[in-house]
Amino acid sequence: MTKSLLARHRAAMPSWQALYYDEPIEIVAGEGRHVTDADGNTYLDFFAGILTNAIGYDVAEISDAIRRQVDTGILHTSTLYLIRQQVELAERIGELSGMTNPKVFFTGSGTEANETALMLATQYRRSNQVLALRNSYHGRAFGTLGVTGNRGWSASSLSPVKVSYVHGGYRYRSPFRDLSDADYIAACVDDLREVIETTTAGDVACMIAEPIQGVGGFATPPDGLFGAFAEVLEEYGILLISDEVQTGWGRTGEHFWGIQAHGVVPAAMTFAKGLGNGLAIGGVVADAELMDCLTANSISTFGGNPISTAGAGAALSYLLDHDLQGNAAKLGTRLLDGLRAHAQRCALIGDVRGKGLMIGVELVEPGTRTPAAASATRVMELAKRHGLLVGKGGLHGNVLRLAPPMTLTEEEAAQALQILTDTMTLAEQELHR
Ligand code: PMP
Repeated sequence: MTKSLLARHRAAMPSWQALYYDEPIEIVAGEGRHVTDADGNTYLDFFAGILTNAIGYDVAEISDAIRRQVDTGILHTSTLYLIRQQVELAERIGELSGMTNPKVFFTGSGTEANETALMLATQYRRSNQVLALRNSYHGRAFGTLGVTGNRGWSASSLSPVKVSYVHGGYRYRSPFRDLSDADYIAACVDDLREVIETTTAGDVACMIAEPIQGVGGFATPPDGLFGAFAEVLEEYGILLISDEVQTGWGRTGEHFWGIQAHGVVPAAMTFAKGLGNGLAIGGVVADAELMDCLTANSISTFGGNPISTAGAGAALSYLLDHDLQGNAAKLGTRLLDGLRAHAQRCALIGDVRGKGLMIGVELVEPGTRTPAAASATRVMELAKRHGLLVGKGGLHGNVLRLAPPMTLTEEEAAQALQILTDTMTLAEQELHR
């Protein structure tokens, strides 16, 4: 008997390379917001929007740009040569950054983008002391895992980075959760000051933070938090790095970058995932003074390669030309409203949060705040049976994560809302059986 692909995956790949679903799916085709698996089942994809396909599947303008590059015979040359579309993309991202004198460096992933930003900030300040938020996720390498506060991921790190964690990420389970927005922000600012004063030698290089925590369950701080943080950071000369790997490119609807909701222009922003609409690309945008602080050479073999930058350039044009940010704002509000209305009827839902097309639904044991991870897994399985793929996340694995491609239509949003509310109701009824 031939071994299944799942058995081969398990045998050939590490145990920690997790797979979704009791019966993991193999996706073999995609169109618009839909994917088809190897068994011929089609699903509305409400997760890959952030991870890979920010815009959607099989977008002609993007595929054509990639094809044109393939037709030149050059998949990649060394980044030691000039690459026209790389320079053009850097110029465009610089313009979109809101920074006065921006420069851009491209990488192959979000991890590498954050490693680069941390390298810049620590070199600039000549200190390896970093601040990060509790419950954060910044990547899978020695430095980035070292500043990852979510223990579901950080436990595998023996990183030597000196890091102190502050409040401000995951409000729902923080001791300040019942405060008003203004008081919550004030409490987080007090905590930040105390952490700087009592756990560091005053030599902090930077704070790295996600404007909305991704892996951490789309935990969304009140607007203005990072503005208040920035005032304290400035007093101490600490640089702010905004990890926009999940929140960039208009996904949050109201702003192009997640950090803009806080009225701050950070020292650096990192990005990846959605920019390439599936291609491996990441990068850092930072003010020239910070970007040029290195005296030694540094290079990324694949960062900014011709294929990725051709595809990402087309993806960026598509998302700007079609006002996908506006679509994310419109349909995101509709989904959030629908889910919040359902939360009034469904005791499984502890919290509905997010912005634009980045929405988290935290499931709890009815009547408590106890995380209900099994219910989240159950809802995911039921939704899949009804033709909807959603993500899961959060410190306790009990948060449903919704992040569809930004080309989502009204009908698809309504359909997903229906499936989600039905399956959450079903999962709740099952608990009472
Ligand atoms: N930062 C954030 C906020 C992320 O969500 C991720 C990926 N989940 C990363 C960094 C790392 O990106 P990559 O997996 O491309 O290395």
